[in-house]
Amino acid sequence: MKKYTKIIAIVAVLAVIGVIFAACAKNVDTGDTSDAQETAKETLVMATNAEFPPYEFHEGDAIVGIDAEVAQAIADKLGMELKIEDVSFDSIIPGVQAGKYDMGMAGMTVTDERLTKVNFSDSYAKGVQVVIVPEGSDIATIDDIQGKKIGVQTSTTGDIYATGDFGEESITRYDNGAVAVQALVSGKVDCVIIDNEPAKSYVAANEGLKILDTSYADEDYAICFNKENTELQEKVNTALNELIADGTLQSIVDKYINAE
Ligand code: GLN
Repeated sequence: MKKYTKIIAIVAVLAVIGVIFAACAKNVDTGDTSDAQETAKETLVMATNAEFPPYEFHEGDAIVGIDAEVAQAIADKLGMELKIEDVSFDSIIPGVQAGKYDMGMAGMTVTDERLTKVNFSDSYAKGVQVVIVPEGSDIATIDDIQGKKIGVQTSTTGDIYATGDFGEESITRYDNGAVAVQALVSGKVDCVIIDNEPAKSYVAANEGLKILDTSYADEDYAICFNKENTELQEKVNTALNELIADGTLQSIVDKYINAE
């Protein structure tokens, strides 16, 4: 009899332990939001400046372009919902630093100065700073820009390099490339320094403009992140490299650039 009592006692203790475990497991379940995440995907907020064709521009109500599509492909891989915020170029990095946006993707050049403020993904494209002038301009080379009025997009590398090379007094800053090019068309500035791909779009869209044969600077584009958020940076980098390796990135680029 004594033996049975012992067994019953052990079974009872095991049963109690089992109940406690089950309760804990339940707590863990209700504690996390995995159920909710299945229905509502986590949002990936990307800041851009959608005046930078073919990387990002408006098509009706939508923001389309290479960056928009690559970001969508990355979000799909991460199982996240992409939300694009269209802001001025110079507020992208401060917004990412403040945690307002998860990442910035805007044909953004990696520079040492920016690396002190944000982290960058691996590079996914090359950029070249070029000079747009009116046809018949007396500006034929970079040296001829000295003493001329230069239009740039605020805080872009074109702005930073040209300010350093030609002096603050020669620079007029505009919110975006489209406005800078309009200033060139109406004769307010003598040239615009901007990235080559948007330059091609603007020259195609406005008669009487051309791009100088000599380019001004070569650069790498990458996605920027808050310095604290290395987890997202790594996840995005992995997804980006998969898209590069399987040819998805190239097919997106071809859709907007090489096929033109
Ligand atoms: N590549 C340039 C930069 O990073 C311009 C980018 C842009 O205007 N969207 O400064």
